[in-house]
Amino acid sequence: MRCPPYEFESYRLRGLAMRESVPQRLSRLPELARNILWTWRPGTQALFSRLDPELWESTEHNPVRLLRETENLGRAAEDPATVALYNLAVQDLDRYLDGQGTWAGHVYPRTDARVAYFSAEFGLHESLPIYSGGLGVLAGDHVKSASDLGLPLVGVGILYAQGYFRQRISAEGRQEEVYEPFEPESRPISPALSPDGAPVIVGIALPGRELSLKVWKVEVGRTAIYLLDADLQENSEEDRLLTARLYGGGQRTRISQEMILGIGGVRALRALGLRPNVYHMNEGHAAFLGLERVRELVAAGETFEAATEKVAGSTVFTTHTPVPAGHDAFAPDLFDEFARDWPGELGTDREGLWALGRKREDWGEAFNMTVLAFNLSRGRNAVSKLHRDVSLDMWKYLFPERPDGEDPILAVTNGVHTWSWLAPELAELFDRHCGGRAWRREVENPAAWSFVAGIPSGELWRAHEGTKRGMARFVNARLELQKERTGRDVPQEINPEALTIGFSRRFATYKRATLLLSDPERLRAIIGGADRPVQFVFAGKAHPADEPAKAFIEALYWASEEDDLAGSLVILEDYDMNVTRHLVQGVDVWLNNPRRPLEASGTSGQKASLNGAPNFSVLDGWWPEAYNGRNGWAVGEPVEYASEEEGDRVDAESLYSTLENSLVPLFYDRDAEGVPLGWVRVMKEAIQTVAPTFSTQRMVQDYVHKLYVPRANRAG
Ligand SMILES: *Cc1c(COP(=O)(O)O)cnc(C)c1O
Repeated sequence: MRCPPYEFESYRLRGLAMRESVPQRLSRLPELARNILWTWRPGTQALFSRLDPELWESTEHNPVRLLRETENLGRAAEDPATVALYNLAVQDLDRYLDGQGTWAGHVYPRTDARVAYFSAEFGLHESLPIYSGGLGVLAGDHVKSASDLGLPLVGVGILYAQGYFRQRISAEGRQEEVYEPFEPESRPISPALSPDGAPVIVGIALPGRELSLKVWKVEVGRTAIYLLDADLQENSEEDRLLTARLYGGGQRTRISQEMILGIGGVRALRALGLRPNVYHMNEGHAAFLGLERVRELVAAGETFEAATEKVAGSTVFTTHTPVPAGHDAFAPDLFDEFARDWPGELGTDREGLWALGRKREDWGEAFNMTVLAFNLSRGRNAVSKLHRDVSLDMWKYLFPERPDGEDPILAVTNGVHTWSWLAPELAELFDRHCGGRAWRREVENPAAWSFVAGIPSGELWRAHEGTKRGMARFVNARLELQKERTGRDVPQEINPEALTIGFSRRFATYKRATLLLSDPERLRAIIGGADRPVQFVFAGKAHPADEPAKAFIEALYWASEEDDLAGSLVILEDYDMNVTRHLVQGVDVWLNNPRRPLEASGTSGQKASLNGAPNFSVLDGWWPEAYNGRNGWAVGEPVEYASEEEGDRVDAESLYSTLENSLVPLFYDRDAEGVPLGWVRVMKEAIQTVAPTFSTQRMVQDYVHKLYVPRANRAG
């Protein structure tokens, strides 16, 4: 695999189509804007903000658009402070790309794995809306940490021309989906180039026609993500829309997108001259990549059996959900139509192909992408220990007993990219209290975080109050815009002093966003305590076809309009990474109450804990591994209840009583300076126990040790 820094030269020279030409003194601004590294470099963000503060806000922190539209560059080149920030940012980029002293280079040089990481969504930043929720953000955080660690890894995904939808909530509380045109020129992407410098176009066969795919590149620090795009003139009008929307369309679109990702993705790597020795399927969406690799080996003379064995030997598969709807399955007629030529190309017959993916669904026989992924991988994992146990139960019928007794599915618990989620104000506080800023070099090491215990409680509390005020300003500005747009006049403004509880994630029904509403009187009593006010901030998108989840949004919306809840229970529209970042960095507590054991991991509570907002959650996903009785709170019992109704009842009772008896009293128990000492102890414990272990820095190292290195070089 080629090292991304060398590829830099070519596009550095091309520049951007801009209103102004870039002054010589700031000549590398386009490069700074194009590399997603800026999203975890506060200094580079300060540079963009200084260049054009208004555009920085109005473009939603999109430096590519800012550079295209700004008229300040000439002036900026004469401003010594801007030039100084620019020089620092360029130096930082060069040092970063140079890659001296990375983990993969020094600490663990046995990373002879060159990984291609395939995912249907990547959440890198709100200005590249090709993610829907936790799965995509995890993929983005994975690639960012691979870059930090110096791991040779590239991502492969899809460029959705309209992205995922933007969410509006109407005056009736209905979710409305708005799709905006995407303008590749305004995004941090550039055409991917082959080794001889030509733009890369690959083709795949769809029923009765060829589909052409353009390949784009996103620079993510030292790594890159390649994105496939069907919006090309040579494709029919209808086919150009195949990559229009993430999770849009019916089963025909879905199978086409999965062929684009899996088959088109492998072909793109070949055209780019990349030869990974480990292929990682992030969720079953990517499983066709295995069939394409079998096809290649069969074309080179291998038998179907030998080829499948080799492909599986060098493939890692991560399963992400026990929820049945999360596992794509195609009916025989549909699958056979799309796969008509595959048996011949794979050196097998229809039965041989179907044996790799057959599953009996409750609606009949189907070709199931999760089954295919399990059959075409030897490295397999679930995303928490509990989810590993649940997945083994679900899927163990697929696996023969292993002679070494090792589980056929391992657990690699999810984490978050520290630098993308930690508030810069807290990072500075940590720097001041950690000698030599050692925590930055060993984020994954719990010992490196022990200094947090020694931060004076008042200082940590004041820093949190600062980020909380920023969150409240953001929330109130958003509420004001919402109010203007819908024309409703119920006053909506949160109070930066009140105990603030955040809940923001995809609204899938198993996450039970409305559990809190189950006893309205009790909720009112908690919220309405005049001297101990409590408020809830909700945000989240429902999948456009998920009516029950949309009804949750409606219920929360109407609750937020009631006189005695208005301003104490609010729901923000247009949830995205920006909303999540503001909330996890500013609220006091993070609430998660899924129906156990359906939350495979969850990561938003990790982001909040890292920022000193302890997790208040059902003991599902990652939380049983982290919860120690001192770093947050549990909702309900760590059991499976006899019925959904019973689970809802017990969990709601626990939610209310823990709020009443623990959270609210502890939060409002202040010392003479107004600092809640007991509460700050929980904050510190949350930071110390969650930040290192539940970072993607730890997670990607686990992938390297447990899955990538063992799989490398098994492809022959
Ligand atoms: C982190 C994150 C999530 C994950 O939330 P869960 O509570 O783990 O489901 C979802 N969406 C966005 C935008 C995120 O940043």
